Order: sequence, then C-alpha cells, then structure tokens
Amino acid sequence: MAEMYGFKCEYCDGIVEKKITTEEFRHKETLVILKNVPVGICNKCKNRSYSAEVLEKLGKALLNRAT
Ligand SMILES: [Zn+2]
Repeated sequence: MAEMYGFKCEYCDGIVEKKITTEEFRHKETLVILKNVPVGICNKCKNRSYSAEVLEKLGKALLNRAT
C-alpha cells in the first residue's frame, strides 16, 4: 500500500508529515472522535489528509451511531 506521508502536499509545495492525533469529524448531526489516529498534515498549508484505515474507522463509527 502506498505510504501517504513524507510526500509533497497536493495543494502546495509543503511536505505531508505524519502525526498521531485526536481527530473530530462532524457528519450531519453526528460528531465522531477518533483518538490516536495517524493523520497526514502538510507542514506549510496544514491541509489534513486521512489514510484509508482512518476513513474505515470513521465509517464504522458512523454506522454504530446510526443503529
Ligand atoms: Zn500543503
């Protein structure tokens, strides 16, 4: 699987760095908090990008809220 960190940002010429952090996602009325997830953050424009693994976790958390 392609590593998304340490590469050039897709929005500017900064570098995407890996940070382990707590992220809050708001989806409609639902707030999902994922703790200690790896996030790619550009060292220039601060754009955040999420790996497939994190998006999968988010999807599962949203499904759990819906039932
Ligand atoms: Zn950037």
